Amino acid sequence: SRMRLDHAMRQALQEGQFRLHYQPQINLANGQVIGAEALIRWRDPLRGEISPSEFIPVAEESGFIVAIGEWVLHQAVEQAARWLRQGWRMPVAVNVSALQFQQSQFADTVAHALRASGLPPGLLELELTESILLRDAEEALRRLQSLAALGVGMSIDDFGTGYSSLGYLKRFPIQRLKIDRSFVTGLPADASDAGIVNAIIQMGQALRLHVIAEGVETEAQRDFLLRAGCDEFQGYLYAPALGPQEFEERVWRRGGPNPPGVGMRLMGGLLI
Ligand code: C2E
Ligand code: MG
Ligand code: MG
Repeated sequence: SRMRLDHAMRQALQEGQFRLHYQPQINLANGQVIGAEALIRWRDPLRGEISPSEFIPVAEESGFIVAIGEWVLHQAVEQAARWLRQGWRMPVAVNVSALQFQQSQFADTVAHALRASGLPPGLLELELTESILLRDAEEALRRLQSLAALGVGMSIDDFGTGYSSLGYLKRFPIQRLKIDRSFVTGLPADASDAGIVNAIIQMGQALRLHVIAEGVETEAQRDFLLRAGCDEFQGYLYAPALGPQEFEERVWRRGGPNPPGVGMRLMGGLLI
């Protein structure tokens, strides 16, 4: 069934069955949307919607992730460039797989995508995972440095789930840590989750990194993160990943940062 899925993916890319959705990233202190994470979506005509957590691992195993990743990169960069031409500055974050990152020409691919679209590099962020960075940390550091030289931002996705070497964290030219959803789920009641999240935020502050929490679904989780000093969040509490048009309508055209209610509650949280 993995082979069938792999075959179907190749066809899907050719036939344009993939699309990108964008999940808003929100500044905790003022409720403003500060960026968008591009997440791939696939509707197969027979099977219906297939989750990336189902097909991305298969694509990673077969190597097809390199082609998918390139499509995602171009698509996301094009979208951000289109928004910018329309007068809207919206940074996009793109997930990068290990195999993609290990390609010797990866930095060139990124540079090419930026050049082709005309997007300023500062409006692109690459999301890397701890496992990517630790496989061969010295080589990873060189790659990160050539990407940083392009001017793109970088973050560590699913932070806390891999084996982070804190020594390398200090040297990597990254700007942001993304606290994995598994630690956010138990907030605020679970003492271990609360402890881990507090520790990540404090470490981020000490290293001058932005910290964003993933998978925020409740106001109680958001309030905890705000008090703990977390910078940003993304999650269903604000919005799931949205199609580009829906994203625009929700975040841009409908008068900016706050969907009805959220800003007010955030202010309330701050006043307490
Ligand atoms: P990720 O990069 O950590 O993305 C976060 C996942 O959490 C997304 O799932 C998102 O839809 C989901 N999510 C966001 N907010 C909430 C929430 O409040 N509650 C819950 N329960 N879930 C939330 P998605 O889109 O299914 O993607 C799963 C994973 O697949 C991603 O994890 C990422 O590792 C991978 N992925 C998705 N798109 C791409 C891509 O374009 N390239 C690569 N290499 N991987 C991708
Ligand atoms: Mg991600
Ligand atoms: Mg993540």
